[in-house]
Amino acid sequence: MNDTLFGKIIRREIPATIVYEDDEVLGFKDIAPQAPVHVLFVPKGEAIATLDDVRPDQGPLIGKLALAAADYARREGFAQDGYRVVMNCREDAGQTVFHIHLHLLAGAPLGHFGTP
Ligand code: 5GP
Repeated sequence: MNDTLFGKIIRREIPATIVYEDDEVLGFKDIAPQAPVHVLFVPKGEAIATLDDVRPDQGPLIGKLALAAADYARREGFAQDGYRVVMNCREDAGQTVFHIHLHLLAGAPLGHFGTP
């Protein structure tokens, strides 16, 4: 259970720069940031591979990831300037770590969505 890269980060078996934690969510800096602020928010419980694998009874967790990102943005003072949250699901979105996570990107104008 949770035997993924992010599971290891949650269990502190490999290092990460942790910037947010509550009972259910851990937030840590992305190792290859795509914006001045790039934080990943992951649920600390059972690992779920993709958004498509979330069962209806697990749905509230997705809201908790988003609320954790919003809380962090307010706390760090960039909520008013704005930010982007993204969840990549499977191959066409470029998902590389199969343990659901929400990307928070901020700290500069991000433009509109990228093109393929
Ligand atoms: P995905 O592409 O699956 O949506 O996002 C995975 C993210 O995890 C990528 O942005 C990647 O840079 C990040 N990542 C991969 N390995 C590590 C790691 O060992 N530590 C941290 N902090 N981030 C990682």
